Amino acid sequence: MVAAVIDGKAFAEGLRGRVAEGVAAFTASTGRKPGLAVVLVGQDPASQVYVRSKGKATIAAGMESFEHRLPETTSQEELIALVRRLNDNETVDGILVQLPLPKGIDEQAVIATIDPAKDVDGFHVINAGRLAVGEEALVPCTPLGCLMLLKDRLGDLSGKEAVVIGRSNIVGKPMAQLLLQQNCTVTIAHSRSKDLPGVVRRADIVVAAVGRPEMVKGDWLKPGAAVIDVGINRVDGKLVGDVDFASASEVAGAITPVPGGVGPMTIAVLLRNTLVAAHARAGLAPPEGL
Ligand code: NAD
Repeated sequence: MVAAVIDGKAFAEGLRGRVAEGVAAFTASTGRKPGLAVVLVGQDPASQVYVRSKGKATIAAGMESFEHRLPETTSQEELIALVRRLNDNETVDGILVQLPLPKGIDEQAVIATIDPAKDVDGFHVINAGRLAVGEEALVPCTPLGCLMLLKDRLGDLSGKEAVVIGRSNIVGKPMAQLLLQQNCTVTIAHSRSKDLPGVVRRADIVVAAVGRPEMVKGDWLKPGAAVIDVGINRVDGKLVGDVDFASASEVAGAITPVPGGVGPMTIAVLLRNTLVAAHARAGLAPPEGL
């Protein structure tokens, strides 16, 4: 084993601590706590776990948590009406609609209703567009967390070859935009890419966001590469990433484990985005070091 293991859990704890300090200062200066509203429609078990842990983390950071649990039978109109009420609610700084939504509800239509200033998931086209043109934006939590881990490990990313595997709007595309902003040479690989091992072998930085257990092997990697594994796959009751950790850690310079790598960063960045949104809505500059 040569690779350093990137401890996302420890980094996320540090970030949550800095957010909690920022929350205390915000509350002292404005007389109100930042508020995060999370909307869950239906009974999806994984979503229920995520929503519960988001609520707990929000309260632990000193923020107000508003949970809205709606039945599976909720119509698109009812959901959109709730989002509009949350847009108008001054005590709500962040709105997160937990995906996936039940069949029959158009996710894009719901996301398009969220006030971009409260879109702490960064999924609204306004925020995606701002990120693409390099304006101040709320950026999707998982890729922003990946970037934080990379900068913490590597410092300046300028000129590095980065390969992002996966082109989803939630992870792959915003990840590529963030790396481009850091002056990386960015390749986005996906299900139709040819010779994926050959493409990945060029990379100083590999971000795997595919959803295929242990797909990326050690012999696909350039020696010393930094490997960020976004994948969360359940195999025989065990969580594994999109990277074959055993072989990859023989070749990589640094690698995130699953669990304990990218996963804990997502909620920490959600809290960070909520604090940033609260500052922007109050006309305040966000705290330093977030
Ligand atoms: P998605 O299904 O929306 O996208 C997967 C992408 O992988 C697609 O763009 C597709 O082109 C690409 N792909 C599929 N098969 C491929 C192949 N054989 N070779 C190359 N590319 C291929 O998934 P997503 O929402 O981007 O999530 C990806 C993974 O990350 C999943 O395992 C998901 O559970 C995980 N995830 C983790 C977090 C976290 O907090 N750690 C957050 C979001 C997603």
